Amino acid sequence: MCGVFGVFDHKSAAYMTYLGLHALQHRGQESAGLAVSDGYDINLKLGNGLVTKAIKEEDIKELKGDIAIGHVRYSTAGGSNPKNIQPFFAHFYGGSFAIAHNGNLVNADEIRLELEKGGAIFRSTSDTEVFIHLIAKSKEPPPSHIMLHKNDTEFIPLVFNAMRKVKGAYSLVILRERQLIAVRDPHGFRPLVLGKNRSGSYFVASETCALDIVDAEYLRDINPGEVLVIDDAGLRSYYPFEHTEEPAKCIFEYVYFARPDSMIFQDWVYSIRKEMGKNLAKEYRVDADCVVPVLDSGLLAAKGYSEESGIPLEIGLIRNHYVGRSFIQPTQDIRDLSVKLKLNPVRDVVEGKRLIVIDDSLVRGTTSKKIINMLKRAGAKEVHLLISSPPVVGPCYYGIDTPTREELIANRMSVEEIRRFIGADSLYYLSLEGMLNAANKFKQKGFCTACFTENYPVL
Ligand code: AMP
Repeated sequence: MCGVFGVFDHKSAAYMTYLGLHALQHRGQESAGLAVSDGYDINLKLGNGLVTKAIKEEDIKELKGDIAIGHVRYSTAGGSNPKNIQPFFAHFYGGSFAIAHNGNLVNADEIRLELEKGGAIFRSTSDTEVFIHLIAKSKEPPPSHIMLHKNDTEFIPLVFNAMRKVKGAYSLVILRERQLIAVRDPHGFRPLVLGKNRSGSYFVASETCALDIVDAEYLRDINPGEVLVIDDAGLRSYYPFEHTEEPAKCIFEYVYFARPDSMIFQDWVYSIRKEMGKNLAKEYRVDADCVVPVLDSGLLAAKGYSEESGIPLEIGLIRNHYVGRSFIQPTQDIRDLSVKLKLNPVRDVVEGKRLIVIDDSLVRGTTSKKIINMLKRAGAKEVHLLISSPPVVGPCYYGIDTPTREELIANRMSVEEIRRFIGADSLYYLSLEGMLNAANKFKQKGFCTACFTENYPVL
């Protein structure tokens, strides 16, 4: 769970990146960093916590240059060690570069061991560092089907080689002294978009909401398997793999992770999320007085449910915006407390009412249990919990932070057992078809559904 951002040819590149990272804050709250190039040197600023804490406006003034990349991180691989804050920076025989990664490699441990046996020294525990070593070590010539621009003959083949060795999910931004490079894995697990502003600066970001904040227009997605090079000679696109892979876009980005004001994988998160709620109403109709979203993640599914069923939407739970996402907390007891800090029932709305409560997903079940308890204590007559995705049964190996298989409640209990555990009057999950149809209505195909089906596209 991370967000990446890059900018080429902007006189306030560091500041643009800082803004972009703010828009991507929901993708990672543990640390943030940026790397800026003035054409000769690359300088970095890295810090723990939210973007405002990790990077100060004074730091930005010191980071001079017109090309930059940035990263917000929540640790999926490598733990929350400060050494793992990205972007990573490296000097090697071919110059220097910085790299920021969203996704997770499935064969990083293997590669790392091999490299360490060969004498490589790692400074972090992150899978991203594997890229640095693979880039710096690679020797093979570029694939014969590719004609390289003269600016790309040295570094870009190294990136191709690294891509051929790693397996898994990676949306990358790479900064060189005079180049910005965007890379997406051949399955396209994680989103990555390209934009341009009116003065001709280029931007790369995990989501389009980060383009909006810098006044850039969305141009297109970085395609699965693509290496896009941006420099003073323009834009060049390479496809180092001769064969195309089955696309495996993360459906969970639409369910929960991406911001609803973003367009990712070429469709609006807003519409798809709302459609999931409509499908939920088509599959499971409850006689109730109002539909209550678990803010913010359940809002659009609740809106869709309400529109489809004709049952009014009421904001029966108020969200405190000054605390982070409850899930993104390292230990269970802190998570437990933060649910209460985050949501509070509106007694006026819920007292004596039969409620349909809608959330986007049920993972450990702890959030829902507390919410239902709070609503009942506030006088709700019935609480029906409807989830706008299927039961989460498998951990994600591609960059979403899901707990271990044992911690996933749907692995330990049947739907009826979960209903009893969380104290709901009824519990219903959207079917897999219902979820996929919501996205397919917008002509989407080729999703990774591993967390719901355990069909892992790459292992
Ligand atoms: P729980 O069932 O208590 O584990 O938490 C479910 C809640 O966490 C739902 O409201 C989701 O919106 C949210 N959620 C689901 N997956 C994640 C995730 N990977 N990271 C952060 N929050 C999540």
